[in-house]
Amino acid sequence: MAPTPPPPHVLIFPFPAQGHVNAMLKLTELLLPAGLNITFLISAKDHRSLSGYANIHTRLNSFPGFQFHVIQGLYEGPLDSAEKLTIMFDCMSEKTTLLLRKLILDSPVTTCVIADGIMDFVLDAVEGTGVPVFSFRTISGCAFWAYFSIPDLINSGELPFQGTNMDELIVNVKGMEGFLRRRDLPSFCRSGLSNRTLQQVSRRIVSHIQKHCSNIYTIGPLHAHLKSRSLNKSISSNSLFEEDKTCIGWLDQQPPKSVLYVSFGSIATLTRDQLMEFWYGLVNSKKRFLWVIRKDLVSKDDDKLPSELENGTKERGYLVGWAPQEDVLAHPALGAFLTHNGWNSTLESIVAGIPMVSWPFFADQQINSRFVEAVWKLGIDMKDTCDRTTVERIVNEVMEVRKDEFTESAKRMAKLAMESVSEGGTSYSNLDRLIQDIKTMGV
Ligand code: UDP
Repeated sequence: MAPTPPPPHVLIFPFPAQGHVNAMLKLTELLLPAGLNITFLISAKDHRSLSGYANIHTRLNSFPGFQFHVIQGLYEGPLDSAEKLTIMFDCMSEKTTLLLRKLILDSPVTTCVIADGIMDFVLDAVEGTGVPVFSFRTISGCAFWAYFSIPDLINSGELPFQGTNMDELIVNVKGMEGFLRRRDLPSFCRSGLSNRTLQQVSRRIVSHIQKHCSNIYTIGPLHAHLKSRSLNKSISSNSLFEEDKTCIGWLDQQPPKSVLYVSFGSIATLTRDQLMEFWYGLVNSKKRFLWVIRKDLVSKDDDKLPSELENGTKERGYLVGWAPQEDVLAHPALGAFLTHNGWNSTLESIVAGIPMVSWPFFADQQINSRFVEAVWKLGIDMKDTCDRTTVERIVNEVMEVRKDEFTESAKRMAKLAMESVSEGGTSYSNLDRLIQDIKTMGV
């Protein structure tokens, strides 16, 4: 009898930031039960954090075909600007190019690599090994398409911007004519557009992308897949920070749909002034709120928390350093989410059926928030402004004045998202197709 061939072996390699590691761990959790072996490349810092704060090891160790490969010596500083991201990119490229080749060549079977789509150096590293690379995008289709269209924007003269009117409509991102403004483009388009940044750079959008990348697998929201396939009945944590679960007890005591959850993700920073404007806006809105204030949320130059906040938020507010976000969004007390619209947070809000107040910080978040308001009608985009009067007005608009309208669209969108990951749905079928394609490569 011919020996059984070994299972396909996949190297999964995310960019070392919370949103990216989270999404690619979820993909890993979806692929392991299909019988694939997986080596997950992770920075030493993220590995330490996951070991400390997440229940990931318990979940993944039950699969004998799973292992982490820990990368030492990577940049461990913050990633809150294009410059710092570039430092990380350069460091990753320098430290992992040889490592990746070695892992592939030393291993008897590396079927394919699934690499974070923003790490273009992986393609160079793998070239000549004969191993296929899947480029995994942790951003939305709309943001990906806008990045992809940047050469067209430059060739047509729309970039760099001439003049200062940020509300001018953009015409050269196909499929988004009529509502995409300058201010909604990825933040790197605004200023200091280096050529390097430029080069890194609903269905209608997917069909545009498809003309350029013929084989794409639209497989999100990944956390909804895990739920729908019952692979993860309780909510899983891939947190790189310690979650403060006491906020769930506080939420339990609040009336249904009464609380605004405020979080700007793992990277965004605020100036002290912005923090205070949000604070007064929230307090003046008279709404209950749960606010994630990471210890590095306020920019380093003025990082001491104002005494108003340090002394607690009095009767209506609750502050935590890091929240169990998926649990929070699923809580019946949740009424809306004031978010920076990182793609994970956006998807988590959509799946939970929670309307949004959007305040994007950088990168793809500017375009995600435009889609939240103008295309999906899930809330209001407050980008580029956070004075206390605007915060108060928009929070009230979403949680009170237009509450029914937004709750209705949020419910509709959540239903669509869950349908897409259920048997017969597009996302469900695409995930199965991905698994089958990897298995065929292994033969
Ligand atoms: N998150 C969390 N607790 C928090 C804030 C965020 O668990 O207090 C998680 C959130 O659920 C999401 C991720 O961190 O999965 C943030 O990713 P996103 O893409 O939204 O933003 P980024 O951090 O990359 O800017």
